Amino acid sequence: MSCVFVVDQQQKPLDPVHPGRARFLLTAGHAAVWRRYPFTIILKSAMPDAQPDPLRVKIDPGSKTTGIAVVNDVSGAVVWAAELTHRGEQVKANLDQRRACRRSRRQRHARYRQPRFANRRRSAGWLPPSLESRVRNIVTWVERLRRYAPIGAISQELVKFDTQLMQHAEIRGVEYQQGTLAGYEVREYLLEKFHRRCAYCGVTDTSFEVDHIIPRSRPGTSNRVGNLALACHACNQAKGNQTAEEFGHPQVQAQAAQPLKDTAAVNTTRWALYRRLQASGLPVEVGTGGRTKWNRTQRGMPKTHWCDAACVGPSTPQSIRWQAIQPLDITATGWQRRQMCLMDANGFPRTKAKEHSRVQGYRTGDMVKAVVAAGTKGGTYVGRVAVRASGSFNITTPAGTVQGISARYCAVIHRLDGYGYQKGAAALPPMSKARGLRANFR
Ligand SMILES: [Zn+2]
Repeated sequence: MSCVFVVDQQQKPLDPVHPGRARFLLTAGHAAVWRRYPFTIILKSAMPDAQPDPLRVKIDPGSKTTGIAVVNDVSGAVVWAAELTHRGEQVKANLDQRRACRRSRRQRHARYRQPRFANRRRSAGWLPPSLESRVRNIVTWVERLRRYAPIGAISQELVKFDTQLMQHAEIRGVEYQQGTLAGYEVREYLLEKFHRRCAYCGVTDTSFEVDHIIPRSRPGTSNRVGNLALACHACNQAKGNQTAEEFGHPQVQAQAAQPLKDTAAVNTTRWALYRRLQASGLPVEVGTGGRTKWNRTQRGMPKTHWCDAACVGPSTPQSIRWQAIQPLDITATGWQRRQMCLMDANGFPRTKAKEHSRVQGYRTGDMVKAVVAAGTKGGTYVGRVAVRASGSFNITTPAGTVQGISARYCAVIHRLDGYGYQKGAAALPPMSKARGLRANFR
């Protein structure tokens, strides 16, 4: 189970505790709930000079989802884990829509301002807004975790494979097959270089094999990456003892011989994230994608974003305790919409102008708990609230949206902070209906 974060009276982070211990502290009145997401308690009495064990926050940045894990390097325990879903696509869609609206107004001569042209210089380190939002999501969460837990170091997956290793080391003999670290790096490199396609037939989505362009039985062969290509099982078998040229694919030789810098080994978003994490003042360790995969396979962990995160970097403990962890699903939602009222298909206003965003102290996006004692909607609902001026709210729970819950049954458990929260995938029943609802929530 994920641990519960603890802070002392001065709001300084202490060692996280087991949920059972936290429950005892809460029921005995020694602590109070400080934050619901991530669950953090604050102690009510002074602690005698505790020196907490430093933890490491580990990050596997992805374009849609980023895995985050807080790991104790000494004990090898995963203390807490989360999967952070970004809204980069949403940001892009919103900007595209705004551009279309402005263009339309200009073309209709609706007295809209002329496009600006003298503001095209971009500041150093500028990223497209969709990527900037991803980077900021991660930096935000690292900063939050530092407030709740004694974080002493950061690990981040920076590149797909180790370019140094590729250039200088000859991959000996059968190393690339036997599951060594170098073998994993080579595989990641080849996947990237051949765009995750078979070099001969172009098939995707299959398990690939490492193919020697000049076969090992021939003179002039080598184990260097320049002689290796990605092939599907069928092509590898069919090629047999032929060179790529004899097999009818002379271009593979040229493709493999291209210098390394031509391949997309690093991406700008990850570099930007790395620089901003360095600015936090904590030591930042970087790892390769090949090493992450190797670490995860060695430790028999499943392929999920948070497990990948726990395996980032050379500091990964020899054995990791991850089995009971239930990751927190965090979804970047943004804060509010700027659109003043909804439109029908012809662009005419369909609703009244936007009213106050606060209704009886609640705001759309707050996490609430509603206890309805009786009636057709009787029950307890925990989820994200959407407020209406009438005081009749909608609550989105993992099981779906319940409509028309009166404000007087609700209590805020977590204020809107730009993110939505759910317990991890393991908490949900494996029903297609539940999955559909979850997709809607995102
Ligand atoms: Zn093939």
